Formats: sequence, C-alpha cells, structure tokens
Amino acid sequence: MPTTLVTGATGFVAGHVIEELLAHGHRVRGTVRSLHDPERVAHLRALAARTGGSLELVEADLLDDAGWADAVAGCEYVLHVASPFPATMPRDPRELERTAVDGTLRVLRASAEAGVRRVVTTSSVAAVSAGRPRGETRVRDESDWGDPELAPPYPRSKILAERAAWRFAGEHPEVELTVINPGMVLGPIRHAAAGTSVDTVRRLLNGDLPAVPRLGFCPVDVRDVARAQRLALETPHAAGKRYVCAGDNLWFGDMARMLAEEFGPRGHRVPTRHMPYAMLWAASRFDANLRLALTFAGRPELVSARRAHEDLGWTMRPIRETLADTGDSLIAHGLVTR
Ligand code: NDP
Repeated sequence: MPTTLVTGATGFVAGHVIEELLAHGHRVRGTVRSLHDPERVAHLRALAARTGGSLELVEADLLDDAGWADAVAGCEYVLHVASPFPATMPRDPRELERTAVDGTLRVLRASAEAGVRRVVTTSSVAAVSAGRPRGETRVRDESDWGDPELAPPYPRSKILAERAAWRFAGEHPEVELTVINPGMVLGPIRHAAAGTSVDTVRRLLNGDLPAVPRLGFCPVDVRDVARAQRLALETPHAAGKRYVCAGDNLWFGDMARMLAEEFGPRGHRVPTRHMPYAMLWAASRFDANLRLALTFAGRPELVSARRAHEDLGWTMRPIRETLADTGDSLIAHGLVTR
C-alpha cells in the first residue's frame, strides 16, 4: 500500500483526489494550512471513516519551510494540488505568484530530499494557453505555453509555477515529475464551500447574473481530474510529461442553457440572455473582476486532451452530467438560496 501526500487537502480538487486515492488502496497524508478548525476537515475525516481508508492530516503552508520535511517523509508519491485560486482580482499579484512558485519549489525540494519517487503537480490549461493572441483558432496542446507577460495574475501564477517545476525537475533527475493541466474544474462539492470554479455554477443557479457574457471554458469533471492524477502516478511512461485534462470549448451561454434545462423545471431561474460585449465593457469600467472577464470575452478555449486519452487511457464523462451533479450538490449543501 503506497503512502501518498496530497497538498491542500481542504481544497475542492484535492478532496476528490483523496477520495480517489483511498478508493484505490493508497495510504493518504494530506497537508492543510491549519488544523485549528475541525469543521474545515470534517468532510475528510468522515470520508476516511466511511471508506475505512487511511488518512492522516498534517500542517504545512506553501509560504513556510516548516512542516514539509515531515509531510513528505516515507511517501512514495506526492500530488501537489495546493495553490491559491482567488475568485476575484488579487490585491497583491506578487503574493499570489510567490505562493504558487515558492510553494511548488518547497514541495519539490522536500520530495527530492526524502527520496519521493514521483511528484504530480496540478497546473492548469492556463499554463498552456493564457495570453493566447485574440483571433487564434489553433487547438493548443502540451507543446504550447501560455504567455506570462500577457496573462492576468492567477493564470500567470500557474505558468510561472509550472515553469519552475520543470526547471527543478531538469536539475533533479532523481525525482520524476508529471504535470496535470486541467480545464475549468466542475463537479460535485463534498462540503458546504464552492471553490472559485464551482461558484460560477452557483451564481447561475442563484440567478445572480442579469445575463451571460460570451466567455469560453473547457470544463472537466473533478472526478475525472482526480482519476487523471492517480493514473499519472501509476503510469510509468507518464514521467516527464504534462497532460491537458479538459473538454471541448463550451460557451458560458451554452452552460447556462444546459443548467436551465436541468434545473428550470425544478424552479431555478437560470439567466440565459446574452450579455453583449458593449454591456460587459461598460460594466467593467467599475468592476475589476469584469475587467478580467473582458480579457477573455469572445475567445474560445481550444485545447486537446488527446495525450491523456492515449497515454493514460483517460476518459471524461459528459459535461451535462457534470453540470447536473454540480448543481445538485450545491443545492444539497444549501448554497443555492433562490
Ligand atoms: P481551492 O481553492 O478549492 O483549493 C486550493 C487549496 O490550496 C486549498 O486547500 C488552500 O488551502 C490551498 N492553499 C492556498 N494557499 C495556500 C498556502 N499558502 N499554503 C498551503 N495551502 C494553500 O481550489 P481548487 O481545488 O479549485 O484548485 C486546486 C488546484 O487546481 C490549484 O492548484 C488550482 O490552481 C488548480 N486548478 C483548478 C482549476 C479549477 O477550475 N478549479 C482549473 C485548473 C487548475 P486553504 O483551504 O487553507 O485556503
């Protein structure tokens, strides 16, 4: 039974990764920033109790060296999932960058020193395509990189963190590195907190938006991302590779329509009206987050997950199922109030 470290255990993606690993016989150690609030990890403790799996939680912060040597001790694998994913424009983009980059290097350094066999880090399709020129219609893949000079703060933090990871791996061949680049991660939440990506669905179901701007996403189910992470550990020839894990481009309006079809008959009024660019532009003059949306407006997110399909035997469930399960879980956890 391998011992596997998962960083950022309280997070949306990491929770599913832990679930996947426990279901496949891993002994799991998860890092959290603080164990002071038992509520924040109650769902993880309940998961371990329900499955009879072995889960230990330890404290470690990406901004601090303390705790990482103990966290990786005795681990065969490390899944580095933690990284700040702010829902709004960060006040200090440098802090975001520092946490993502220095945190990744801390995890990798500790792993190399402890003799960890493989580290799988969670990057993003942002590291493949953020800052792509407007009008580009080419489908991007793992040979592509986002442009940190043109990318907004969060995508930039992901590009720089992944670059730093590959640089480290180049200098430390004793540690195998594999990178997963997920698209927009949706799917069922396991506790009453919607992360940044799922919050998009929550806002649609709550009718918080008057209309939907033309934004392109390449969504992927969190359970499929978790499976990709496990397959990346188990597949010998995945070492040294990055894997896009994302579906086809889905316009925000199409996502809203699918949700309206599923949840409309149950009384939820999901907005499906198109927000013209001019209206988005006007509203963005007063709202930094809409200014961020403006940079993505009208651009489809075109990436290919062919390598993950071929190398890892990875598959994705239909997006309609993901959206329905996301909505159901938000309702079940009381996060959809209207
Ligand atoms: P969440 O916000 O749910 O989880 C982020 C995790 O990172 C939390 O556990 C958080 O801990 C932890 N974290 C943040 N800052 C620190 C720090 N200084 N030290 C230690 N831990 C820290 O996000 P997701 O689950 O959605 O994202 C997980 C990963 O997947 C991230 O790397 C993200 O960039 C990547 N990703 C996510 C996508 C998505 O659509 N969700 C798409 C592509 C990539 P705490 O609970 O204490 O705040």
